[in-house]
Amino acid sequence: MRTTVGIIGAGPAGLLLARLLHRAGIESVVLEARDRAYVEQRQRAGVLEQGTVDVLRAAGAGARMDREGLRHDGIELRFDRRRHRVDFPGLTGGRSVMVYAQTEVCKDLIALQLAGGGPLLFGAEAVAVEDVDTPSPRIRFRHQGREDVLECDYVAGCDGFWGVSRPTLPAGVGQVFERTYPFGWLGILADVPPSHDELVYARHERGFALLSMRTPAVSRLYLQVPEGTKAEEWSDEEIWRELELRFETADGWTLRRGPVTQKSVTPMRSYVHEPMRYGRLFLAGDAAHIVPPTGAKGLNLAVGDVVVLARALAHEKETGSAELLDAYSATCLRRVWQAERFSYDMTTLLHRAPDATAFEDRLQLARLERIISSRAAETDLAEAYTGFPLA
Ligand SMILES: Cc1cc2nc3c(=O)[nH]c(=O)nc-3n(C[C@H](O)[C@H](O)[C@H](O)COP(=O)(O)OP(=O)(O)OC[C@H]3O[C@@H](n4cnc5c(N)ncnc54)[C@H](O)[C@@H]3O)c2cc1C
Repeated sequence: MRTTVGIIGAGPAGLLLARLLHRAGIESVVLEARDRAYVEQRQRAGVLEQGTVDVLRAAGAGARMDREGLRHDGIELRFDRRRHRVDFPGLTGGRSVMVYAQTEVCKDLIALQLAGGGPLLFGAEAVAVEDVDTPSPRIRFRHQGREDVLECDYVAGCDGFWGVSRPTLPAGVGQVFERTYPFGWLGILADVPPSHDELVYARHERGFALLSMRTPAVSRLYLQVPEGTKAEEWSDEEIWRELELRFETADGWTLRRGPVTQKSVTPMRSYVHEPMRYGRLFLAGDAAHIVPPTGAKGLNLAVGDVVVLARALAHEKETGSAELLDAYSATCLRRVWQAERFSYDMTTLLHRAPDATAFEDRLQLARLERIISSRAAETDLAEAYTGFPLA
């Protein structure tokens, strides 16, 4: 099998890249290890930055998002049993975000790809990426019980943090910047209308909690839990009780309960691999970097990377110049590090470290007080949350 761009992974990065390349008249083949149902059901991100929304619309993948997505003009910060709303449009000159689940973004992109794009093979696991430092890289993959080879001009490693692309890089080629956190998020999906119409980020002595939603009828809620916690260790009753404690306010706000339909724990990590390119292999999305989910940046970073990559490949096709491909890593990393910084700031602002001292507790509260009392500080948060420029 032969194509121009071999894409490993049908997460948001790989699927959107295939779509953008198709529109630029560049052939690609997407290899995805899992089956379609798995990819379409995998619960992950849900907040799309303004820039991501604009990109999906321009790619012809925005129709259902515009019908069913929920435009959000702010978030609520909650601490000391008080509530403070951050007004995004008012602080950023009109920017907002869209709540539309990653599962739905993937469904929309898969439907478009299967309807008129290049090949998208499910159950096709890449096992090796070879010769990326030559003009003819190859991806070895397993599909329907057979070993096969995809020959291409470029390889896009969109295979997430645990994929095969990044480990392909020869030792010593890159540098890793990493931080792990001594806690994770226990997340639930519940069949109950959200108790608030915007996301609520709660800082509490017992730990962080986040109220989010997938649709007007489905709530998504998270609790900070110690690293290594298993979802089964928490009963539904214990989860609801803990959420009520952490979201409690002085003005009598109440949390609606409903049947829990899904429960899982997400570890927290910050990770960047530099550079994001080696030869003809380009890493995009979680394959190159991870952020803790507190800043809602993971999916949005993946989108930013593939926009830059698609533009660079189109430029090379049109002009013969590899100038933008050569700049790919540096261009993406500028935005990646801003998202890393913001995600780290939000995480340390709102979570309680197991060894936090009374001094650090007071500092956290002082940082929150600063945000709600200074328009400059609040604007900084609103600008970062609604998104950094794509390139
Ligand atoms: C459990 C979890 C919860 C998250 N929650 C949030 C959140 O609330 N908010 C937020 O902003 N972000 C969240 N994220 C991050 C966000 O979902 C990711 O940043 C986003 O999925 C990145 O997209 P991607 O396409 O780069 O990678 P992925 O979505 O990971 O896609 C990679 C794809 O590659 C496939 N693949 C892997 N190896 C191979 C192989 N060898 N051959 C072929 N295919 C392969 C995988 O099956 C997968 O489909 C979460 C991530 C996780 C893991």
